[in-house]
Amino acid sequence: MVDNEKSDVLHATQLVIEQALERLGYGKDMIELLKEPLRMLTVRIPVRMDDGSTMVFTGFRSQHNDAVGPTKGGVRFHPAVTEREVKALSIWMSLKCGIADLPYGGGKGGVICDPRNMSFGELERLSRGYVRAVSQIVGPTKDIPAPDVMTNSQIMAWMMDEYSRIREFDSPGFITGKPIVLGGSKGRETATARGVVIMIQEALRLRNFPIKDARIVIQGFGNAGSYLAKFMHEAGCRVIAISDVHGALYNKDGLDIPYLLDRRDSFGNVTNLFSSSMTNKELLELECEVLVPAAIENQITEHNAHAIKASIIVEAANGPTTLEATRMLTDRGILLIPDVLASAGGVIVSYFEWVQNNGGYYWTEQEVDDKLQLMMIRGFQNVYEIHRTRKVDMRLAAYMAGVRKVAEAVRFRGWV
Ligand code: GLU
Repeated sequence: MVDNEKSDVLHATQLVIEQALERLGYGKDMIELLKEPLRMLTVRIPVRMDDGSTMVFTGFRSQHNDAVGPTKGGVRFHPAVTEREVKALSIWMSLKCGIADLPYGGGKGGVICDPRNMSFGELERLSRGYVRAVSQIVGPTKDIPAPDVMTNSQIMAWMMDEYSRIREFDSPGFITGKPIVLGGSKGRETATARGVVIMIQEALRLRNFPIKDARIVIQGFGNAGSYLAKFMHEAGCRVIAISDVHGALYNKDGLDIPYLLDRRDSFGNVTNLFSSSMTNKELLELECEVLVPAAIENQITEHNAHAIKASIIVEAANGPTTLEATRMLTDRGILLIPDVLASAGGVIVSYFEWVQNNGGYYWTEQEVDDKLQLMMIRGFQNVYEIHRTRKVDMRLAAYMAGVRKVAEAVRFRGWV
């Protein structure tokens, strides 16, 4: 994807932040402050490669706003990461934390790299190098990283170990999404998907569709997409299509999800093992009750929004739908559950992980899931109520719900 298109992600975010703050009665000073991150650090990370050469990788850490509390958000490893994208992603984290009422502001990190072409050792050295490069601005009470696109609990473990070495004390609360033996939370790995399931249930209820036999289409088979397929399949839905970067698999009677999960690699690749039945583009246009984009940004645009046949779209990915497409889908009566609400499950359970690390007392998976359910439903009701009473689309409603807490905290601190 060219940088031009990606930069739109930040621009689009700023437009909606502005509208949300205006609707909430805030003036231009607040808009000026909240439309950009407070801090953006760009680093260069030299990594010794297996062949003896040194490669220099570029990384970012963006901190949108820390008026509410420490900043929080994942680190993605992806060849197409850009500075403007990471900035937008950190603003979205502020919104997610605001909607879920967590005591955090938003942060986000990224490294331009392709982990699919790197060895285990190279990935470890890159992960540790990233932490050394950003160590001055992160920490358990400053800015708390987590997994995101193509990063996982192993990478979190290396990062936590590196940070603990630098600080010379064990710091599990520095990062979330860790392996359970290193202070990770039960239920964190499945949290984003669990949150999306709860949103799908609420949306199906609103539209009077029974869960049983509902047709679900999922774009992306990474952490969110694969667990989501598993849970929806177990709930008796028909998961009729899934996809990865190579293509999509489709079966109108429902795919054999347990079989596909078994064959998926750690980057979510699976379709290359089969003769793929359609493209990612065709998958988005399938007739179904629920379409879940669970991959990357800008998948539903003004070019294909008219062709979407789903009744409900639940955004498990960050930023899959452009603003123009949001307008077109809303006009067509499609119920859209926006990313900053639908994908908040990950950061909610990250918060639980951090609380458990700080208290040194660990919860059962059932406790985690029950608390997650409460927070997701509260977030949904709040956003839906704003949508209904203020007569704004679901995305603007979610931005209004999310930005309110940050703006209030900024005002009380006297920054604006
Ligand atoms: N990367 C996830 C997100 O985009 C989780 C962030 C976190 O757990 O802090 O929401």
